[in-house]
Amino acid sequence: RIGFDVERIRADFPILAERVHGRKLVFLDSAASAQKPRAVIDAMVRTMETRYANVHRGLHWMSERCSDDYEGARDKVAAFLNAAREEIVFVRNATEAINLVAHSYGRTVLQPGDAVVVSEMEHHANLVPWQMLRDSHGIELRIAKITEAGELDFHDLERNFADGRVRLLAITHMSNVLGTYTPVERLAAFAHAYGARILLDGAQAAVHRAVDVRAIDADFYVFSGHKLYGPSGIGVLYGKRELLEAMPPFLGGGDMIRSVSYEKSSWAEPPYRFEAGTPAIIETIGLGAAIDYVNAIGFEAIAAHERSLTDHALAVLSDIDGLHVLGRAQDRGGVVAFTLDGVHAHDVATLLDKQGIAVRAGHHCAEPLTRRLGQDSTARASFGVYTTHGEIDALVSGLRRVKQVFG
Ligand code: PMP
Repeated sequence: RIGFDVERIRADFPILAERVHGRKLVFLDSAASAQKPRAVIDAMVRTMETRYANVHRGLHWMSERCSDDYEGARDKVAAFLNAAREEIVFVRNATEAINLVAHSYGRTVLQPGDAVVVSEMEHHANLVPWQMLRDSHGIELRIAKITEAGELDFHDLERNFADGRVRLLAITHMSNVLGTYTPVERLAAFAHAYGARILLDGAQAAVHRAVDVRAIDADFYVFSGHKLYGPSGIGVLYGKRELLEAMPPFLGGGDMIRSVSYEKSSWAEPPYRFEAGTPAIIETIGLGAAIDYVNAIGFEAIAAHERSLTDHALAVLSDIDGLHVLGRAQDRGGVVAFTLDGVHAHDVATLLDKQGIAVRAGHHCAEPLTRRLGQDSTARASFGVYTTHGEIDALVSGLRRVKQVFG
C-alpha cells in the first residue's frame, strides 16, 4: 500500500498538469468520467506496442499473451467485486450492462404483468431500459419515492412491493446527483424476502467504496471502467452464476457460441455467451491496471479522503449566500449538486470554466429526478482520488466571482 498523499497521487495523472484558459486545471467532474493515471495509460500502450493480437482464437504467441492479459483483467475484476470469474461479463459500460439484463433476463425470466421497481433517483441508464421493456414486453414499471432528504423512502418501497408482483428491484448504489448511498445489504435482503432479484447500478459507488457482491448478496451489479480511472469503452456486468447460466445471449456472433450450423446454433457458457465479437481488448487490460491502481491506494484511504473533501465542500459551499446544495443524505459520496439563486447552472459552469474550473451542469442524465427536486438544471462538483481541499476552495472563490458578475 502506498498510503495516502494527494500530491503524490496527482503526480500519477499527467492531465492534471494541463492548463485551461491559461489557468491551472481544477477538475471537478470526475463523476462524469475520471482522469487516467500513468499506470493505465502505460498498460494500454504496452499492450499495443508489445503484446497485441485478437484474443481467444490465435494459436500463436501474441494471441496467447494478449488473451492472458485480457483474462487476467477478468480475474482482477472478479477479485475487486469478490465474485467468480465466470460471473464477470465485459460490456461497454454500465448502460450496456443494464440493457443486457433488461433484454436477456427481462424478456425470459420476467413475464408480462410482472413488475420492476426503480427509484426516483436513477440515472437514465437505469430507467430507460426498463421503460423500453415495459413498452415491448408488458412488464409494469414502478418508481419508488425518495424522502425530502434525498434518501430512499422504505415505506414507499414496501407499498410498491405489497402486491407480490415485483420480480426485480433495479436501483442505484450511489446517486450521481444527490450523492446518496443506498443501503444495499438491506435492499437486497428486502427484495429477496419478497422473492424478487436485485440489480445494483454501481457506476458511482464502485469508484468510492469497496464492493463485495457476496456480502451484499447482489444478483446483478454493474459499473463502468471510465469512472474508475480506467478507459472508456469497457464496463462490467456481474451476475450470479445461476442467473447468467439461465439467460439467453444479448448479441449474437463470433466468440459467444458453442457450435453453429445453418440450421441452429448453441451458446457458450457465461461469461463468453454475452461477449459476442472482438471485445475492447486494450481497454479491458487498461481497466485491470486501473483496479491495480486503486487497490494499491486502498479503498479505506480513498473513502476517508473523499469523505473529508465532501464534508469540506458542504461546509464551505453553505457559506455562499443563495447557494443551495441538493440532498441531505446521512451517507453520501463525493458529488455535490447545487443551484445558485439568480444564475442558471449553465452560466455557473461556463463562468467557472473561464477560471479553469471544470464542473458539470444540466440534469446529469437524471431528468425526472432533477424535476422532482424542482429544478431544470443544476451544477455539480464531483471529487476523485486526486481532488484537493484547495481545489474546493478554488471552487468557492470561483463561485463568488460568478456572483459578482451577476451582480
Ligand atoms: N448510473 C449512474 C449512477 C451514473 O452516474 C452513470 C454515468 N453518469 C451511469 C449509470 C451510466 O454510465 P455509462 O455512461 O458509463 O454507461
